[in-house]
Amino acid sequence: MKNLSIDAERLWDSLMEMGKIGETPAGGSRRLALSREDGEARDLFVRWAEDAGCTITVDRVGNIFARRQGADDSLAPVCIGSHLDTVPTGGKFDGVFGVMAGLEVLRTLNDADVQTRTPVEVIVWTNEEGARYSPVTLGSLAFIGEHSVEYALDRVDVDGISVREALADIGYDGPAEVGNRPIGAYFEAHNEQGPVLEEHGETIAVVTGSYSSRYFVITVQGMAAHVGPTPMARRKDAMVGAARAVLEINRVGNAYGEDGRSNAPHIEVYPNVRGVIPDEVRVSCDLRHREQATIDEMEADLRSALADLEEELGMGFVLESYFAWGPMSFDPELSELLRNTAQDLGYAHRDLQIIAGHDAVPMTEITQSGLILIPSRDGLSHNETEYSAPEHVAAGANVLLHAALAKAEIVAGAD
Ligand SMILES: [Zn+2]
Repeated sequence: MKNLSIDAERLWDSLMEMGKIGETPAGGSRRLALSREDGEARDLFVRWAEDAGCTITVDRVGNIFARRQGADDSLAPVCIGSHLDTVPTGGKFDGVFGVMAGLEVLRTLNDADVQTRTPVEVIVWTNEEGARYSPVTLGSLAFIGEHSVEYALDRVDVDGISVREALADIGYDGPAEVGNRPIGAYFEAHNEQGPVLEEHGETIAVVTGSYSSRYFVITVQGMAAHVGPTPMARRKDAMVGAARAVLEINRVGNAYGEDGRSNAPHIEVYPNVRGVIPDEVRVSCDLRHREQATIDEMEADLRSALADLEEELGMGFVLESYFAWGPMSFDPELSELLRNTAQDLGYAHRDLQIIAGHDAVPMTEITQSGLILIPSRDGLSHNETEYSAPEHVAAGANVLLHAALAKAEIVAGAD
């Protein structure tokens, strides 16, 4: 059974073929959640999974479950999941690697005529990236009951198109009730999206937990006025207020040691026309840190800096929290299993804490959940040139294969 190995070439070819859907000139992928391209990618996944003998279930928020029967099909399945959606200038590995690795595990079990005690399922989650619909990991959060189905379906993109409409457009408004299926154990493999594995020349990271992440929107309230005649001293320019706020966000990220993170990646300007000084600017930002106590300090620091700006500039600065996750820990038993599996297969490995969100995080609320990472070239992700080497892609899938088999139990086939 230790000799059982995934087909590295087949996995790589599938990954590259999936990457052609929404391919960008710079070699990345653009498959926003529930777009036409996401629909095409889902169709291809479903076709491949059906070719591998799977039964497909789609739930009401578009999560896809591809099931390979177990010897005792009444047992809860061992699941492997990730996502097919990307950010607008995404790469070919983020999310897709995890889904293709799961599919490759099923294909490998088929080739070796392995029968497992429990079913094995590959899951494609809806809108992991949060690039088109907020918040991130929408499909898995709905699955665990963190958000209601109606809340998920009512999310709208910048053009006012709801998740409900977009799902219907691509034919993934499934009939299955959301969350109404048992999960025996959940595994996910992802690219690291950071530089640690590459810097240390290691192949696998076993993720033991996550940093704490807090997401906010800062609304800066100024006053609309003509951009010409209004004397500088009389202006309440919300854009200037937002610029100062962004500098404070950046300062806070730098002020709490190397575990501190902050960013302000999204801005909305009103009325956003030439000729009018903006009266309102909304800046989305997040703060991250490994320590709960420190992130409390970071938030307090930002709040007090915004209060100072309010006083200095005479404009409103309202900080609203809209999403938070972590710190959390992954299941110690699964982490140990993944660590031992990497060790047995001869891969250099380390434990790591994630600073990015993944569907494996919400899954810890309802089942045993485990996450591994493979190296990202130059530590780069959410970039069209994102890359992971074929041998690392294969290694990640092999760890998934053997860890999933340890939980699903072989009852026939393979020695
Ligand atoms: Zn991802």
